[in-house]
Amino acid sequence: MSKDKNAPAAAPSPPVSNFIRQIVEADLAAGKHAGVAWAGKPGPAAAHAGAPPDAAKIRTRFPPEPNGYLHIGHAKSICLNFGLARDYGGACHLRFDDTNPEKEEQEYVDAIVDAVRWLGFDWGPNGYFASDYFDFMYEAAQHLIRSGHAYVDSQSAEEMRASRGTLTEPGRDSPHRNRSAEENLDLFRRMEAGEFADGAHVLRAKIDMASGNINLRDPAIYRIRHATHHRAGDTWNVYPMYTFAHPIEDALERITHSICTLEFEDQRPFYDWLLERLAEGGLLAKPLPQQIEFARLNLSYVVLSKRKLIQLVQEKHVDGWDDPRLPTLAGARRRGYTPEGFRAFAERIGVAKADSWIDYGVLEECMRDDLNARALRRIAVLDPLKLVIDNYPGGQEEECLAPNHPQQPELGKRAVPFSRELWIEREDFAEAPPKGYFRLFPGNSVRLRYGFVVKCTGCDKDASGNVIAVHCEYLPDSKSGTPGADAYKVKGNIHWVSAAHAYRCEVRLYDRLFREANPGAGGRDYLEDLNPNAKQVIAAQLEPALRNAKPEERFQFERHGYFVADRVDSKPGAPVFNRAVTLKDSWGKG
Ligand code: ATP
Ligand code: MG
Repeated sequence: MSKDKNAPAAAPSPPVSNFIRQIVEADLAAGKHAGVAWAGKPGPAAAHAGAPPDAAKIRTRFPPEPNGYLHIGHAKSICLNFGLARDYGGACHLRFDDTNPEKEEQEYVDAIVDAVRWLGFDWGPNGYFASDYFDFMYEAAQHLIRSGHAYVDSQSAEEMRASRGTLTEPGRDSPHRNRSAEENLDLFRRMEAGEFADGAHVLRAKIDMASGNINLRDPAIYRIRHATHHRAGDTWNVYPMYTFAHPIEDALERITHSICTLEFEDQRPFYDWLLERLAEGGLLAKPLPQQIEFARLNLSYVVLSKRKLIQLVQEKHVDGWDDPRLPTLAGARRRGYTPEGFRAFAERIGVAKADSWIDYGVLEECMRDDLNARALRRIAVLDPLKLVIDNYPGGQEEECLAPNHPQQPELGKRAVPFSRELWIEREDFAEAPPKGYFRLFPGNSVRLRYGFVVKCTGCDKDASGNVIAVHCEYLPDSKSGTPGADAYKVKGNIHWVSAAHAYRCEVRLYDRLFREANPGAGGRDYLEDLNPNAKQVIAAQLEPALRNAKPEERFQFERHGYFVADRVDSKPGAPVFNRAVTLKDSWGKG
């Protein structure tokens, strides 16, 4: 934890530069995109012709495929794209890349909207669906056919694979490569009309079967799929391939900087080839978008693959997409992580060209820093043991004043009730204290934080020897905040809640989802590395004010960590709490 962990949140520091910011700044200086006309909505060259130059200096986009919930890796991309638009006077689009009819659902669209908003970003009028461009894409494909840049191949998938060549060997031309434009157009239209079965034909770009870049060996651009699309319904029998659709989506939206993860680096030549061909034909306006790759986030102790996240949810290893153990943003939100913490995390990890792993502790540290600055302090006893103050009159009660935030006195104090019987943490009593133990043991005195000094006189046990109550006597003139209280010097300082007033409730203690830093490393099934203790449910005794916590209100439970009132399971007047992150320090343990 940083030295100034208790300081209020500092003003945000200016963003750290990185290679993408340098590209953007150079483009701005050169006026590369100064003439990017924007007709107010995405469209082909004709739509933008004559449109006034746009106020947005750059355009980025976040393009999720709605086939899963967003995760912490996506947060990096969201912060990067929306952050660039914010910092350079641009616009960032939210575009659902819904070109694959089979795996996409409205539930995912809604969850993605929620998550991006929650992170604090706004796309204004620029929310789009790739499926709205299907007509244009179909036109573009026909244009490529007419100009000799695409053909219908009728080989089987296996034949195509076999003739693709390898990294060291060139591919072989398909026997259908030299079909006439008329024949290709006819076949493609019949593919779309539904005359053929899935896989009978594909439309391929005609580039170079001998290219050193396998992605340029006549990649497939359209395939037959008799499937119902979540938005387009049964309109289409052909669907564009991602690598064909994505550059077109960017160009129609006049994206200036199309930022993606490194695995698309080898696709960039095709991205550029395709857009150049369509611009040549007058379908797209220049300047064209530029693809820029950065290293994706790899985070230890979690998995960030959609396939694995879907498996964890569907096989019920967790309780749904918003399970606080999951690295989904919906899960992180329920867990008590904050948007500010995620934005700070994105800044801290930066943007680079080379793959690397970030330790999960870095994310926890960002959350802790943010929560420390903003969460009010409350008292919670998580493993309750009864403390009886034998010389305090039964039926009497009084108030003790506890600061809401010790580093921010302006946040004031609150009254916590004190009475004869309290709950304390079981670990704050030891019948036979180990060396260096300064908390309660027979004969020792401690301060009940914000209350009195008490001296331990003994304990009660059940038949099997378990301690069921601790006894003590209090010193009436030792109350915190009263004159003379400071005269009492004790080493232990423990927290407590009044038993008669406490709010007993469910608290979920969450921990890392996997016990291994790299789940599934060395060929193991990653499911074997699940941490069985990632969720513990306990019955805790909380200070009474916590009864009124609103869903998503976050607190520091003193000495325990940061907790949030669960946004799903809390009821008015009966919140339940989730632990977001522990405190790293061990305040009060001395
Ligand atoms: P899929 O395999 O379904 O494509 P994906 O993780 O790439 O999975 P998308 O919905 O395509 O999911 O991702 C949307 C955007 O988020 C993309 O631009 C992608 O590059 C980015 N993204 C995804 N995972 C990460 C990650 N771990 N770190 C940074 N960016 C990511
Ligand atoms: Mg993707």
